[in-house]
Order: sequence, then C-alpha cells, then structure tokens
Amino acid sequence: MIEKTTQSVANLGYHAHIYYDPTRTRAVAERVCAAIGEKFRVEIDGFRDTPVGPHPIANVLVIFKPEQFEHVVPYLMLNRAGLDVLVHPLTNDAVEDHSSYAIWLGNPVELKLHTLPRGRGGRLPSGVSAQAPGLTPAGGSALTPARKGLAGSRALGLRHDFGRAIAAFA
Ligand code: ZN
Repeated sequence: MIEKTTQSVANLGYHAHIYYDPTRTRAVAERVCAAIGEKFRVEIDGFRDTPVGPHPIANVLVIFKPEQFEHVVPYLMLNRAGLDVLVHPLTNDAVEDHSSYAIWLGNPVELKLHTLPRGRGGRLPSGVSAQAPGLTPAGGSALTPARKGLAGSRALGLRHDFGRAIAAFA
C-alpha cells in the first residue's frame, strides 16, 4: 500500500558532499570524483580544503539532477573509498535538506545547521531554475560570504540565481 504524505516537497536536485582530509585523503576524493564525473551526468563544484558553510571539514561538492540519483548514489555506496558522504536534496528549506532530509554514506559529520537559511540554499544543477512551483525565494539572510566563493569559482554555465547565491557552499 502506498501512502501519500499530506504535502509533497518539491526537490530540484541533489548534492553529494564527499568529505576528506586535505593532507591524507584529498587524492582519494579526487579519484572518486573523477570516476563519478566520467560515469554520470554530474557537476563537480570544486574542492574546499577548509570548513565552509555548514560543513565543518573539507569536502568536494558533486551536484546532480533528481533523475541521476538512482545512478550516482548506488555507485557512491560501493565506491566511496572509505570517505564519508552526505547526500542532501535541494528543497525550499536548507536546514531540513541538511538534517531530516539527508542521507549519509559512512559516518555522519555534525553540521553547523545554524549557518543555513530556512529557505532555498545551495547551488542548483545547471539549467534548473528555482522558480519551480512550491519553491519560494529564501529570505535573504546574511550569508554574503558565499558570494566571494561564487565569484572565484569556475564558471559552470549556471544561470544567475536571482541573487540567491546565499549559502552557495551548502
Ligand atoms: Zn550541499
């Protein structure tokens, strides 16, 4: 029997954050990412060697669309090379995305959820618009440090996100 939740949650994509140690396991993370990038339609959004946003340790961000979930996540389950991985959706509540909606491969890492907005946060897959039904703009909370990183990051062909560059590292 299929039960429906009273209110479905719109989701625009997923992030896989692959955690690593900058001195010990960065090369491992690079290999894992290279393999994912070859096999699947994902975007590798770069290696962050220092804590950023809600993430207390270094991680590399892999962004993908909902239809890629069934391919990317089972692969990562078996091929994460001992690294811990957070997979979270991209709904209109970044706090929930990183807590109750999230799944972990390996050991969970305690996240700094207070850095996240109760609204949309995190970079969307290329070509995906945040204007989908049920997704309202985030409340413009003070997360401007994310903009610095946006300016410095490699162009991914992402459309300008109507100022919602907030929590770009989420
Ligand atoms: Zn994320």
